[in-house]
Amino acid sequence: MYTFAEENYIKAIFKIAEREQNSVGTNAISSVMKTSAASVSDMLRKLSDKELIHYEKYKGVTLTTTGSKLATQLIRKHRLWEVFLVDKLKFRWDQVHDIAEELEHINSDELIRRLDVFLGSPKFDPHGDPIPNAQGKFTLRNQVTLTDLQIEQQGVLVGVKEHTTPFLEYLNDLKIGLGTHMKVVKINAFDESFTIIINQSQKHNISKKTAANLQVKVVK
Ligand SMILES: [Zn+2]
Repeated sequence: MYTFAEENYIKAIFKIAEREQNSVGTNAISSVMKTSAASVSDMLRKLSDKELIHYEKYKGVTLTTTGSKLATQLIRKHRLWEVFLVDKLKFRWDQVHDIAEELEHINSDELIRRLDVFLGSPKFDPHGDPIPNAQGKFTLRNQVTLTDLQIEQQGVLVGVKEHTTPFLEYLNDLKIGLGTHMKVVKINAFDESFTIIINQSQKHNISKKTAANLQVKVVK
């Protein structure tokens, strides 16, 4: 079995590799894990001994088949738990990420199998992220970030890139959630902020950083 720390490294390596489409450097890992290069190297040696990663100095890290399966199963558990917390226990979407970070380490395939059935095998979590199935397959979806939209283009929010409580609380204040309709009416030359109309009624000004964290399905 693996420790929480080992599992968290495997998940981090999977996510960095997905983002960079490449083998993962130790610097990227130490910045995500907020720890020193020395402790990253220690951990990488352990993960390599357990055959979860291929690790060659100066060449970066790639996950083995076992490592990559472990990563997708952790992501599956994390996202299913988030659905459970929101749909069944009535937590808000800004309250569930940290709890799911702990629940994802419970190691029972039967528990997760029953949880999935209980929830009706959801394909997406409360932040709009795809939930890999038991074989590790993700459902793909056409989406762009709000910053990709031109003036007068419209989209429906299908996901958020950032899952932190302050960001999601800010969206709550603006009454933005999954399914919210958005139309870009102006991109402001001075600070590159976006003026948008939400659900055909409310006008808001949001920063480029906020817009870059909103994933929308374009509405024609
Ligand atoms: Zn989460």
